[in-house]
Amino acid sequence: MVLDAPRTPLREAELPDPVPASGEVLLRVRACSVCRTDLHVADGELARPKLPLVLGHQIVGAIVGGAGHLGEGTRVGVPWLGWTCGECGYCRRGRENLCLRARFTGYDVDGGFAELAVADARYCFPLPEGDPDLQAAPLLCAGLIGYRSLRMAGDAERLGLYGFGAAAHIVVQVARFEGRQVFGFVRPGDDEARRFALDMGCHWAGFSDQRPPEELDAAILFAPAGELVVTALRAVGRGGTVVCGGIHMSDIPAFPYEALWGERTIRSVANLTRQDAREFLALAPRVPVRTEVRAYPLASAGAALDDLRGGRVRGAAVLVVDGP
Ligand SMILES: [Zn+2]
Ligand SMILES: [Zn+2]
Repeated sequence: MVLDAPRTPLREAELPDPVPASGEVLLRVRACSVCRTDLHVADGELARPKLPLVLGHQIVGAIVGGAGHLGEGTRVGVPWLGWTCGECGYCRRGRENLCLRARFTGYDVDGGFAELAVADARYCFPLPEGDPDLQAAPLLCAGLIGYRSLRMAGDAERLGLYGFGAAAHIVVQVARFEGRQVFGFVRPGDDEARRFALDMGCHWAGFSDQRPPEELDAAILFAPAGELVVTALRAVGRGGTVVCGGIHMSDIPAFPYEALWGERTIRSVANLTRQDAREFLALAPRVPVRTEVRAYPLASAGAALDDLRGGRVRGAAVLVVDGP
């Protein structure tokens, strides 16, 4: 499925088979989960995608060719971080998520809304056994970015999650495993999402314009709405952290300094490191993380994006690719 230009429908196309370069593997895609970032790219909210582009950065596939230490037939996951330079100051200090020359899957290079994909073998990760392809796919961004966001929330005991989609429904499981209490916030009036947040293990769930019954120690925002930064800041106590987990957000409105005072922190999370991937994929089976997915055939990628935009997906949307 090809994106020719932002704000145009995805087009079904027969592309030449991708050829792996040195150090790359060729993958037979089995499933690819749909992320809000895919939506931001399709909607033209992220500035510089390669065009035309195959979206998708939560790929589960089997290695069918190319070099690498992983071996043919291995089932691997491919995340958003597709390549880093290894030389810039960020890379050298172990912060490859901030690499100035990083390339991202389904943005700078073609991704997984396809039958075949190529990926740098160093950025492919063997997946926990036991998780079917469909259930494993959302671990690769919703899970990974959620995990990095959770680490940025520090040792918060009472954690708020604003926007209860794919990432939050994974984070709540990890947070509970770590002994935290989770407070879920959903779109005002969306009772079904509120019930889903409770079903997934939230201690309390309410609408994002409501205050939680207790003061929070930290909050993670997955909803791309800038005004929620201020809402979350008012929900956390002194010393609390508000973590913005998304890649794009509407403008944050002005707010009085008093809302930030008391050593409250606002921070963003950008991308992921390979270390995040190794840690999270080792942790997920211990929790164990169970993802709730809605499957779409590859050709319905556009419908999956529309459902995500409309808030109609419970858990994660995943494209299923039927190979030959
Ligand atoms: Zn993503
Ligand atoms: Zn770098």
